[in-house]
Amino acid sequence: MPKSIEQICAGLDIAARFRQPMRRLTSLRVGGEIACVAFPDTPEKAAKLVQQLDESGQRWSPLGYGTNLLVADGPLDRVAVSVRSLTAPARFDGLRVTVPAGYSLPRLVNQCADRGLSGIEGLSPIPGSVGGAVKMNAGSHGYEIADVIESVEVAQDGRVVTLPRAAIDFAYRHSPFTERDLILGATLRLRPGDAEASRAAIAEYRRHRAATQPVNANSAGCIFKNPRSGPATGRLIDELGLKGETIGGATISPCHANFIVTNGAARADDIFALIERIRQRVRAARGVELEMEVKVWD
Ligand SMILES: Cc1cc2nc3c(=O)[nH]c(=O)nc-3n(C[C@H](O)[C@H](O)[C@H](O)COP(=O)(O)OP(=O)(O)OC[C@H]3O[C@@H](n4cnc5c(N)ncnc54)[C@H](O)[C@@H]3O)c2cc1C
Repeated sequence: MPKSIEQICAGLDIAARFRQPMRRLTSLRVGGEIACVAFPDTPEKAAKLVQQLDESGQRWSPLGYGTNLLVADGPLDRVAVSVRSLTAPARFDGLRVTVPAGYSLPRLVNQCADRGLSGIEGLSPIPGSVGGAVKMNAGSHGYEIADVIESVEVAQDGRVVTLPRAAIDFAYRHSPFTERDLILGATLRLRPGDAEASRAAIAEYRRHRAATQPVNANSAGCIFKNPRSGPATGRLIDELGLKGETIGGATISPCHANFIVTNGAARADDIFALIERIRQRVRAARGVELEMEVKVWD
């Protein structure tokens, strides 16, 4: 008989919480109850956990800080494997730094700057985990995390395996990692820099963000990717006069048209409806098919 989630987590000494509302685990603050959230505290335990979940036929999904996730309203019959407890200290070695998947990306950017390591300053306003950033190939201000990755640790057959950068095909906001892949950590290789210059650049990127994006509202960052050519998605939506449009508790941000912001009463269905409205209007007016950047769990 296959093991239950409770048995698997207890056997591996992994903390687990059952029937958790996803609205508390995502920055959009929507989402129904998930069957279980598991918090492995070492990469080795995490690798064994997902192997045993696979063997017992349990559906699971990796969960970082939930800043790029839109979770549907209904109950979700799956296990979120959270990397929140994979937060061992960053290991610096010359120009290299190795961090676990649960490490905060903004924290890592600050620490690199303080040590005079340059190459990721533009990633400082991205509020996710390192694992989530690798999965999404997060980027901003002309920087992408893929540009500095030397290797990525993933779970394979119950073990922690290191993949070299050359084996990983990154693209704009895309990595080859699927829902069946759990990223456990990464090694980045940076450039020698100047601590003061890096800190000043970070402050400027953050100031620019605060002036151009609704940084204090509930959101998941940009909802759609930018088209390969032509105007950015935010501009396309803005030009159609859609800023401020509201369905239920979800609104197209008056500050940045590629952001949907929510109030405490929002449901995921409000956001899905707004997404559909934007897509239809952009398709009809501009012939552009918008592609989602935010990941959906339904
Ligand atoms: C205000 C705001 C501003 C933002 N600005 C930017 C920006 O400028 N540029 C940008 O690129 N993004 C931006 N984002 C989006 C988001 O912060 C990034 O995509 C971030 O990298 C997601 O990390 P996370 O830990 O929150 O991932 P999550 O939201 O938890 O997960 C996102 C996806 O990655 C998967 N995943 C997460 N962790 C792992 C793992 N360890 N192994 C395998 N898969 C995993 C999840 O299953 C899911 O499919 C912004 C978001 C907000 C709220």
